[in-house]
Parts: sequence; C-alpha cells; structure tokens
Amino acid sequence: MNAKILVRYGEIALKGKNRGQFEQQLLRNMKSAVAGSNAEITRLHGRFLVEGPAEKEAFLIRQLQRIFGIVSLSPVTETALDLEEIKTAAVRITEALLPGLKTFKIKARRSNKKFPFTSPEINRLLGTHLLHIFPGLEVRMQQPSFALSVEIGYHSAFLYSKNIAGPGGLPVKISGRALLLLSGGIDSPVAGWLAMKRGLAIEALHFHSFPFTSRKAEGKVVDLCRQLSLYGNRIPLHLINITPVQKVLKSEVPAELRIIILRRIMIRLAEKLCRERKMRATITGDNLGQVASQTLESLAVTEQASQLLILRPLLGMDKREIIRQARAIDTYEISIRPYEDCCTLLVPKNPATRPKLDAVKEAESGLDLAGLLEEAYDTRETRTDDFIS
Ligand code: ATP
Ligand code: MG
Repeated sequence: MNAKILVRYGEIALKGKNRGQFEQQLLRNMKSAVAGSNAEITRLHGRFLVEGPAEKEAFLIRQLQRIFGIVSLSPVTETALDLEEIKTAAVRITEALLPGLKTFKIKARRSNKKFPFTSPEINRLLGTHLLHIFPGLEVRMQQPSFALSVEIGYHSAFLYSKNIAGPGGLPVKISGRALLLLSGGIDSPVAGWLAMKRGLAIEALHFHSFPFTSRKAEGKVVDLCRQLSLYGNRIPLHLINITPVQKVLKSEVPAELRIIILRRIMIRLAEKLCRERKMRATITGDNLGQVASQTLESLAVTEQASQLLILRPLLGMDKREIIRQARAIDTYEISIRPYEDCCTLLVPKNPATRPKLDAVKEAESGLDLAGLLEEAYDTRETRTDDFIS
C-alpha cells in the first residue's frame, strides 16, 4: 500500500502570478527533498499530494516538515467520491485507533460542490455510521479523543486524523539569493535558517585564520552548511583566509579599532563575492547590544564600508529564543563544539563600543586597503556538493 500525504501551503497571501511561482518553486523544492524515495507529487486544488512507498512514510514526513512554504501535512486515506467508500475508509481508520478511543467527531469539508451531500450531511451520515459500527463510541464536539477530517475534492476524497505543522514561510529561492556570513557560533546558522524561511537561497562565507585556527574549525562550518542545506538549497561554502589582514591590523591599527576595521573588511569582501556571484544581500547573525561590535554605532560604522544590503534576521530575538531555535533546527550541537573564532586573535582588552567613523577612516587611510582585500580574496576556496551526500 502507498503512503499518501496531503500538503497544505500558505495560499492566503498569494495572488495571480505570485501564486503560480510560489507553487512551482515549492514543487521543485519538495521534489528535491524527497528525491531517491520514489515519491510522486501531484498538484490538487490548492494542495499537493505526495505518494510514496508505505515504508517511506516517516521519511517523507520528516523531509517535508522542513520545507518552507508548507503550512501543514496530513497522512491521508484516499477514496473515490462515493459515500459508501468513504464510510468503509472511516471505519478502517477508526478501527485502527480503537483502543482508548471514547469520543470522536467528523469534520467534513466539501470543496467540490458537485458532491451530492453537504458538509453537515456528511458529518451526520458518517457519524451515525461509526456509532452504529462502534456502539462504545460517543460523539463530542469539544475536545473529542479523535477528530476524523473528510475532504471532498474534485477527483477523490481524503480522510485523515493528524495535522502535522510545517515551517510556513516562503519556498526557498523565490526571493532570490543572498550570502550568509557564517561563523562557527550559535547565531549565524539561525540567521541563515530565518533568511531561507523568507524564500532566500543562500551561499555561505566563512573567514578562517589558518594556521591559527585549525581545520577542525572548518569541519564545524562544513557541518553547519550540511545541516542548513536540509532546509532548502545545497549551500556552497566559500572560505577566505583572513590571517594576512589580521596581521596587518595588529601592527598598523590602534588596538581598540582593530575589530571594527576587521568587520568592515569582512563586509567589503562579502560585497565583492556577492557581486561576483550575483547575490543581492548578505545575512549576519548580528543582534543588538550583545557585544561591543553590536552596538548601533558599531553596526552603522560596519555597514558604511559597503553598498551591500545587510539583513539581520535575529534582531528581534533574545539569546534564549535564538538557542531554542538553534536546537529546533539541529545546529546547536554543532555550534557548541569547541572551536577557535578567527576574531579572538585580535580581541583587545577594550574594543571601542562607540567607534567614530572619522577615526576609523583615518586609521584605514594608512592601510593599503585595496591590496589587502585582493590578497584576502585570492585565498578564497569554494566547497560545494562534495560535502553534501
Ligand atoms: P555567532 O554566534 O553567529 O558567531 P556572535 O553573537 O558570536 O554570532 P559575532 O562573533 O560578533 O557575534 O559575529 C556577528 C556576526 O558576524 C556573526 O553572526 C556572523 O554573521 C558574522 N561573523 C563573525 N565571525 C565570522 C567569521 N569568522 N566568518 C564569517 N562570518 C562571521
Ligand atoms: Mg561569534
């Protein structure tokens, strides 16, 4: 027997052309999420139906639950548009759940008005039938132990009792592509996930300080990319060695300005990469006020180094909420592995919390910025599908 899963998506905000694009992108993303399982996906009215081998049901549900754009899922039994067949299926579903079952209700929804019974009639006819077959059961409208939903579609009927929440959001890629600045910390993977939730396909950029940071630190970032890739596109990982820049900053720039200038250089490198790869924005795990580099003044001075649009999806979140989300998307355990942050090489005792753009520009004017950028950019390596099985 086949497993069938009814997929509902966020149709409310969708109109005209957007709706078609949304459905097409969602379909593509679902297909790649279930690839290799022999599943087939058909489009129904405002829904998708995923069919696959029975033993793959749990796998299919798990994969689909991560796909942005999906609001909810239900494993369903499909029948012909025939009341007797619907009754038989209802009995079979109820039977399987019987032990412990005392109360139930039927929730019918008739999308297809050609079906000869109205929703209240279906509720009554099916309810009566179940009471007849299972005399121990009672109908209860409020909090029944079991609610059996019946959807009358255009070609068939669907019966189900479970509604599994999806992540909502927009299908990945529908909003375009952007570059995630991915450190090995807790925050940036969550920022990436939230950006994907708004329909962005992402690539990742990580700055490392090899040989001062180890290849192990890199393995961690690779694992984060692999984990994030489960939620959308396969994420190419760009690696840039920032050590030469750090060395110069250490010898040429006052200690309290090193971090802010390093960040401005990172943003300029991100901008260069975005231009080359045709991405329109960068995403960071910045929050407000957590550390010296995240005061409003620091964020502003960092931002003024480039023309790039910087998205900061975590701005409205507390650390606790970020950690909860990191756990929910299974990046937390990877993020807390010990690692060396590239920035720790530079951490001065007192980084400026309110850097002044003038002072920063003054310090930068003594550097060969163009040369530094080029030197760092030339260290770029890109890892793509090799780390995603
Ligand atoms: P995270 O948990 O993401 O490391 P954080 O709270 O530690 O964030 P910072 O270390 O100040 O904050 O970094 C702020 C943001 O800058 C990060 O979320 C990330 O987007 C970017 N960033 C920091 N270090 C790196 C790095 N080595 N490579 C790429 N991006 C980085
Ligand atoms: Mg960090």
